[in-house]
Amino acid sequence: ARAARSALERVTNRRGRVGVLGSLNADLTVTTRTLPGPGETVVGDPLVVRPGGKSANQAVACALAGADTLMVGAVGDDAHGEMLRESLTRAGVDISGVRSAQVATGTAVITVDHRGENTIVVSAGANGTLGADDVHDAADALRAVSVLGLCLEVSDPALLAAQRLVNSAGGTTVLNVSPLREVSAELVADAQVLIVNEHELAAVVGSDPGREPADIAAALDGHGIGRAVVTLGAQGSVAVEAGLVVSVPAFPVQAIDTTGAGDAFMGTLMAAIAAEVPLGEGAALASAFAAVAVTRRGAQASYPGQPELQEFLARW
Ligand code: AMP
Repeated sequence: ARAARSALERVTNRRGRVGVLGSLNADLTVTTRTLPGPGETVVGDPLVVRPGGKSANQAVACALAGADTLMVGAVGDDAHGEMLRESLTRAGVDISGVRSAQVATGTAVITVDHRGENTIVVSAGANGTLGADDVHDAADALRAVSVLGLCLEVSDPALLAAQRLVNSAGGTTVLNVSPLREVSAELVADAQVLIVNEHELAAVVGSDPGREPADIAAALDGHGIGRAVVTLGAQGSVAVEAGLVVSVPAFPVQAIDTTGAGDAFMGTLMAAIAAEVPLGEGAALASAFAAVAVTRRGAQASYPGQPELQEFLARW
């Protein structure tokens, strides 16, 4: 908590701007007693529609943590798109890089059972139209960011173009290798900071190093990855930077819904990186932000603002 408080102070006296390029989705969630199997129909509770999409979640968390944040992406000209623009704007995100597409806003169709187990089907919609042209159109704004956040919910050409642009402009590119899919090797190799969960780590390094910080650090080092955070759910995270390995505990809270916890973590971590906070301290702040988020339902809807984050940290 002490590391997190010090990180929050530095984010508040912020310097750099964070850009997030990627997905915006409407999360359509129905809670059922049991998840339906193939060919099965089950009855669910009323449909809940909430703002989501990995990149939009990350942008909202980043802005709420206190960073000046720009979102670049695409939504449809529809009610879901309007909901997403509103959620980002309310959090203080600059949405001048969010364009309207001629197709529907991306959606995630989510079923959750009584134990919190879920299934998710993502339909890309407008996110599927994001390409290298969008990076070209937003080039001036992207060149001005000090940190750029990317995840795998949009196409490789868009991701690669944005990463090359920000890398060559001297910014720090942060790649969340999620949701896991086949991805350009260049994207992973040229990301300056990797954020992965344990499954994504195993896919990136080609074997499962387990949860021991020293083993995780060795696996990353063996792949030439010098700066990374591996998130381990309720077991916290491991941050590796400049040969330093920091094990960051999760806060022991009563989790109700972990949707968007990883995105909350990444968004907050980017705010810390932009304030030049060391990765281990940034991960401590991200851990606190995500801990508050898992005590409430939804992704963006569950994220705390700075006052609540400060109150939470004062209790530890
Ligand atoms: P994950 O993407 O599940 O690895 O979670 C990302 C981060 O969110 C973790 O590193 C924790 O800091 C936090 N987190 C996730 N689940 C929980 C939980 N049940 N309780 C407290 N913190 C959590």
